[in-house]
Amino acid sequence: MEELRWNPIRQEWVIVATHRQTRPLLSRKQCPFCEEVEGAPGELEVISIPNLFPSLLENSRSVSNESPLFVKCPAYGKCEVVIYSKDHDKGLKDQSTDSLIELINLWIDRYEELGSKPGIKYVFIFENKGRLIGVTLDHPHGQIYAFPFVPEALQREVESSKKWMEKHGRCLFCSIIEGEKEKSERIIFENERFVGFVPFFASLPYEVHLYPKSHLGSITQLDDHGKKDLAESIKAIITKYDRFFGFELPYMMMLFQSPTDGKDYPFYHFRIEFRPLHRSKEKIKYLASVESGTGVFINDTLPEEKARELKKTKWKE
Ligand SMILES: [Zn+2]
Ligand SMILES: [Zn+2]
Repeated sequence: MEELRWNPIRQEWVIVATHRQTRPLLSRKQCPFCEEVEGAPGELEVISIPNLFPSLLENSRSVSNESPLFVKCPAYGKCEVVIYSKDHDKGLKDQSTDSLIELINLWIDRYEELGSKPGIKYVFIFENKGRLIGVTLDHPHGQIYAFPFVPEALQREVESSKKWMEKHGRCLFCSIIEGEKEKSERIIFENERFVGFVPFFASLPYEVHLYPKSHLGSITQLDDHGKKDLAESIKAIITKYDRFFGFELPYMMMLFQSPTDGKDYPFYHFRIEFRPLHRSKEKIKYLASVESGTGVFINDTLPEEKARELKKTKWKE
């Protein structure tokens, strides 16, 4: 069963996808992604396939609300898996810039195609990495969810950036980038087109936000130079994480882009967020009562300090 159920208290949708309980934890020998890419043509490194355990399905979209208390509708949408590499052990940081550019091109293609489907209002590209984050398959891969609604948290972002633009006459995110560059103490990586930093308001110790320096609403607006610099930035941040921690750091990587509901979002500016749950090599930040119940995060580290650690960790040699 896959359906969306409306929570009238928090004013948000919940995806009910019971078949996902049966997702198996698979060993290397049973890896279906290795099988999937074996037959892929030529040098092709990156492919996207439908998720076998989708949370959203491409079917009808009738909302049933006999009662205002129990509003539900079929979980219309699409879930895809993006396989990063033919090699079971080759994560993003081990790939060449060209392979990463191939991945960025695939993201662009999927964002455009899924976003243009009728009823798809938000395309969310992400990667969950590591068992700690609940990943059942080790083969390097990311995912894409095409939502039939703009999720609440992102709707809030859109509204706040619109208000900021109206009040200050410029983009909220461009302002944040400028402020971080002026201070420079939280910047951990920078190249010509991108800048990555632990934000002033980081909710997790090693949270990193990566922005294009020019005002772009989605990855579709990147030129070749922008794609190259984005590829390098992703590689740099993950390499820094792994070198600093001394192991492959589990993380969530998420692309936040303009909604695809057909409206214009000239005030929005895309970013990629990296959210590892580690507080130190041994300690994990659990999302417990305060975080889950109130949405208020307690960060028991200073973003400036964490940024310093990541900044001085070399990624190239
Ligand atoms: Zn594999
Ligand atoms: Zn901007």
